[in-house]
Amino acid sequence: MTAKNMMPYVEGNSAIRAMFEEGARLAEKYGKENVYDFSLGNPSVPAPAEVNQAICDIVREEDTLMVHGYNQSNSGYEDVRQTVAEHLNKLHGTSFTAQNIIMTVGAASGLNVAIKTLVDPGEEILAFAPYFVEYGNYAANHGAVLKAVPADTETFQPNLKKMAAMISEKTRAVIINSPNNPTGVVYSEETIKALAKVLSEKSQELGREIYIISDEPYRELAYDGVEVPYVTKYYANTVVGYSWSKSLSLPGERIGYLVIPSALTDFDNAVQAANIANRVLGYVNAPTLIQRVAARCIDCTTDIGAYDRNRKALYDGLTDIGYECIFPAGAFYLFVKSPLADESEFCQIAKKHNILVVPGTSFACPGYVRIAYCVAYDTIVRSMPAFKALMEEVRKMQG
Ligand code: PLP
Repeated sequence: MTAKNMMPYVEGNSAIRAMFEEGARLAEKYGKENVYDFSLGNPSVPAPAEVNQAICDIVREEDTLMVHGYNQSNSGYEDVRQTVAEHLNKLHGTSFTAQNIIMTVGAASGLNVAIKTLVDPGEEILAFAPYFVEYGNYAANHGAVLKAVPADTETFQPNLKKMAAMISEKTRAVIINSPNNPTGVVYSEETIKALAKVLSEKSQELGREIYIISDEPYRELAYDGVEVPYVTKYYANTVVGYSWSKSLSLPGERIGYLVIPSALTDFDNAVQAANIANRVLGYVNAPTLIQRVAARCIDCTTDIGAYDRNRKALYDGLTDIGYECIFPAGAFYLFVKSPLADESEFCQIAKKHNILVVPGTSFACPGYVRIAYCVAYDTIVRSMPAFKALMEEVRKMQG
């Protein structure tokens, strides 16, 4: 008998599976090129050539027993962690060493390790809506409770007033994500400073640490030179989760890291706990070959120009038709106001036009839909008449 605990996930998953199946069915019926699938955050730009070269070079040049073996430390290769630390110091003027870095199985495992390390069962984690749907599951994995801070739909910057009102003696952490999935918004320096101020005051008032867990898989996907503030510089009790899934287009390779700054309260215990969490959660260590690849490719970046072109084409095209949304400064998503109050109904009608998008309810923000523009440019161009026909149909429904 499958654990009862898992049945809500099984039931919830059928909606996602239904979306996949619908996509496949539509592709079969109308031809793949006539289906506009904007549902997944899977990078559309191939990994840089340096990555493939590094894989070949490493297996040729390095000791394969070591390259494919267990890491001596569950935190990962010491030299890789030192390379990551120095890279961050060069970019952000920080002073990390290998001791501050724990290699993880992508951002997903990094978040689980961070929560297991910092949050006790029954404690609360706040997240600003709209947020990545898995946060709730990750919190629940460790007996923690995720609470959604309602969105500020004017700016999609964190709603700090509402957050302050929700903080209690149970609050242990706040998860932030910038550049943001699903809005593409980048949190400004002003926002990060204000967030740090509120959390410092509340920590003081309640006599307990409230940590920031900064989820940053889209850090490098920021357009027009917009600054993405490095959060540890503004708030000591910050753990950063990073991943190369998007920045090097390696989501299947499962590679990322956590940064645990020395200034974090109870640093020595925290860093040991994270090391152990990596083991006891069953990750053991981050994939070893790809750790070495990431270190060799530490200065590589993806072709952000391709996403930028998609961003502009989609935003201009949709807003010309009459859709409303914030112009995203980062990531590869557009969070569009649903022209129908019930965005799930809108998503269903979109499917009739061969357009697949994700309802905002999946991000704790109903009334919006997420459009992932990590697709071929051509898909965006060809989808425009379908988006136009969709809007016309909705307008007719509204009389
Ligand atoms: N956090 C956010 C906001 C994401 O969008 C994703 C993946 O889409 C993840 C975390 C998980 O990333 P990873 O593939 O590195 O586990």
